[in-house]
Amino acid sequence: MLKTGLIGWRGMVGSVLIERMFSEDNFRSIHPYFFSTSQAGASNPFDIPDSQPLMDAFDISCLQAMDIIISCQGSVYTKQVYPELRGLGWAGYWIDASSALRLNHDAIIVLDPVNRSVIDAGLESGIKNFIGGNCTVSLMLMGLGGLFKEDLVEWASSMTYQAASGAGSNNMRELIMQMGRLEGSVSDLLNDPKSSILEIDRLTRECIASDKFPITEWNQPLAGNLLPWIDSEIGNGQSREEFKNQAETNKILGRSNNPVALDGLCVRVGAMRSHSQAVTLKLRQDVPLDDVHAILRNTSVWTRVVQNKKDASLTELTPAAVSGTLQVAVGRLRKMNMGGQYLSAFTVGDQLLWGAAEPLRRMLEIIIEFES
Ligand code: NAP
Repeated sequence: MLKTGLIGWRGMVGSVLIERMFSEDNFRSIHPYFFSTSQAGASNPFDIPDSQPLMDAFDISCLQAMDIIISCQGSVYTKQVYPELRGLGWAGYWIDASSALRLNHDAIIVLDPVNRSVIDAGLESGIKNFIGGNCTVSLMLMGLGGLFKEDLVEWASSMTYQAASGAGSNNMRELIMQMGRLEGSVSDLLNDPKSSILEIDRLTRECIASDKFPITEWNQPLAGNLLPWIDSEIGNGQSREEFKNQAETNKILGRSNNPVALDGLCVRVGAMRSHSQAVTLKLRQDVPLDDVHAILRNTSVWTRVVQNKKDASLTELTPAAVSGTLQVAVGRLRKMNMGGQYLSAFTVGDQLLWGAAEPLRRMLEIIIEFES
């Protein structure tokens, strides 16, 4: 069995990955080794036969002994460890949730329901780096990928509503703390039906603005607020998150040399888990809406087309409806006032599953099958 090192399993993405690996019985097919950047030597917390204590994620000789490494630790870790490991001639498979290697020429961005042929060709040609895509990109393609596969998209613009979980475990905790602080600032008034809403509004605004409001992780209030910038500035007016849209989508589709134009704004909202995005698509032709529905249904078995009706949208097309499931919902599908080639859509999916952990888990299965 292939020796598989798991790094970053304690974080948001890693925890979901381990949960899915247990659900799909993946630990039976590998010899797992758990690494940590902070708890080396501690006992392994999982009920897996013959498991070793946690290994040091910076110990290059231990990493060199692995056939496969799956890292959910983040870009800083990858940038520190990966070059040294490869520099010493390590020829194993590197599967990574972080963006550090995504756009490298010797790496493939994995989303197998959409780009299995790209992955297979990469394996055959000796590629060893398989990297999970940006969460909003992967979820957009799991929702709307059928239209891209049919080459029907001339351009698309997305406006995202990204959940707290996209920023990691400590940020999720802090959002809940912020919500609790807000509620606590007016709980007496909320219990009194005669209290003034303007007073409640004033006190919550004061609470958000107070220097006691917990903002260590976000640097800004997120509860009762939204943040219209995600990740760093790249100097052209886009955020790094917005830059990834066109670059990664076209790389996943294997068409970086003939890219579809994609752009938009990425916004953090106070949803706990699951990213949403509103997308405007310019199609290459006026495709009838029924045909659009049929093409989207064929995107993957996890793609779920939701009727463009109020009730269906409010109950089936929300972060609360899809969180914890593998379904990616796509709805609000209609032709826009601009003309028959203009399609509006809204997609929502659990970015910890299809947006992060699931493509990595499935890549592990693909490698095991390829090597057997
Ligand atoms: P995370 O939750 O912050 O976890 C990363 C590491 O932080 C953990 O493995 C753990 O390492 C350490 N850590 C520190 N305090 C922790 C705490 N209180 N609870 C749990 N772990 C803690 O990060 P993440 O969201 O999983 O992201 C990991 C990578 O995946 C990043 O590169 C990110 O960009 C990428 N990614 C994330 C998402 C997403 O939706 N979150 C989606 C796609 C890609 P030790 O155990 O070694 O201390």
